[in-house]
Amino acid sequence: MSKSLQAIRGMNDILPEQTPLWRYFEGTVARLLDNYGYKQIRMPIVEFTELFKRSIGEVTDIVEKEMYTFEDRNGDSLTLRPEGTAACVRAVLEHGLTGGGQPQKLWYIGPMFRHERPQKGRYRQFHQIGLEVFNLDGPDIDAELIVLTWRLWGMLGIRDAVKLELNSLGTSESRGRYREALVEFLSGHLDKLDEDSQRRLKTNPLRVLDTKNAETQAVLVDAPKMADYLDDESRIHFEGLKARLDAAGIPYVINPKLVRGLDYYSKTVFEWVTDKLGAQGTVCAGGRYDGLVEQMGGKPTTGVGFAMGIERLILLLETLEQVPEEISRQVDVYFCAFGEAAELAALTLSEKLRDQLPNLRLQVNAGAGSFKSQFKKADKSGALYALILGDDELAQQVVSFKPLRGQGEQQSIAFDALAAHLATCIVQG
Ligand code: ATP
Ligand code: MG
Repeated sequence: MSKSLQAIRGMNDILPEQTPLWRYFEGTVARLLDNYGYKQIRMPIVEFTELFKRSIGEVTDIVEKEMYTFEDRNGDSLTLRPEGTAACVRAVLEHGLTGGGQPQKLWYIGPMFRHERPQKGRYRQFHQIGLEVFNLDGPDIDAELIVLTWRLWGMLGIRDAVKLELNSLGTSESRGRYREALVEFLSGHLDKLDEDSQRRLKTNPLRVLDTKNAETQAVLVDAPKMADYLDDESRIHFEGLKARLDAAGIPYVINPKLVRGLDYYSKTVFEWVTDKLGAQGTVCAGGRYDGLVEQMGGKPTTGVGFAMGIERLILLLETLEQVPEEISRQVDVYFCAFGEAAELAALTLSEKLRDQLPNLRLQVNAGAGSFKSQFKKADKSGALYALILGDDELAQQVVSFKPLRGQGEQQSIAFDALAAHLATCIVQG
């Protein structure tokens, strides 16, 4: 029996009825980032596996169990990118974009791949918009990243539904000292730690802090605090960030357990979270990674960035009913023509209209059809106006102009006057 073909579990089609919202979202972000002076970079979707192992870290969830890795025909181990930072750093190094300490403010958009358990807000192919800034090491740029996301939430109408959580992980030295103290403390409570945490204690102890297990959480209450181990430089940096967020009027909470899943973070880490999406509540997350570029073979180069999950933000817009009505209307005018001669005239007339009104969204009926069927299609298209051209109109060189959404009466308009008339209507419409 033949099995019908289906998409891979956790990898979704984005259907025509959903794309207007995606394009609205992506367009809003792209405009915002242009305005803040960020430049777009586009990296390949596949990279050498080694890149992710080296940058994300061998003992992270992503590298241990979430990557789509395969051998290509040359026998090279390749991986579908699970995130964008590694490839962005690779590209920056490969093309010398940060040579001589030159600052770079970059952004990217595209699909990412992780073999996770699919559920609402968690997929195996998902999409991120990410920002990465190189060679700017002060808290001012950390603040700018947060300020611009805050502006974005405002533009999208979701500010009230998201909360900013902040932490500082310190430098790798101070983090190392804290890690030692944490391991020593937790080793004394091994029997009360869940299985995952026992394993993490050996491989990636800071990750124990974001356990979901209640018993382990109870143990953590008395654990050493990261803030007590912070070095002066990181503390001053963190104070500088908080002062800027206060000045910008952006509310935040300090979450000392925020450690992030990836190895490469230092100093600032942050997440924007919502309680409107159930368990998958983080819509945007990032932080500073001052050691990463060097770790990947470059000269010492500071970095800070974040990525937002587009699916989760789209879900949030829908949940909060913040989908602007006008984005789904994609047709202004629907052109109905009856008979061969009228069809030919409609074709030349509509092309002339497109010359004269480059922004006009004009759909010409295809596949002929009766008056009734063309009218039905005109209505269904969502157009504000129908143009009607039959033998009678053609003889008089006019088109019948019919408002479809109750804005005035039907009228005849001469071919020559049509563009000028539409120009006034569409602006008003
Ligand atoms: P989570 O804790 O939810 O697994 P993460 O820490 O693994 O998230 P990041 O690697 O920081 O996520 O990615 C940044 C953002 O990308 C997340 O905050 C989320 O919005 C989105 N994201 C991550 N993984 C997925 C996924 N599998 N499906 C949909 N969106 C995702
Ligand atoms: Mg994850």
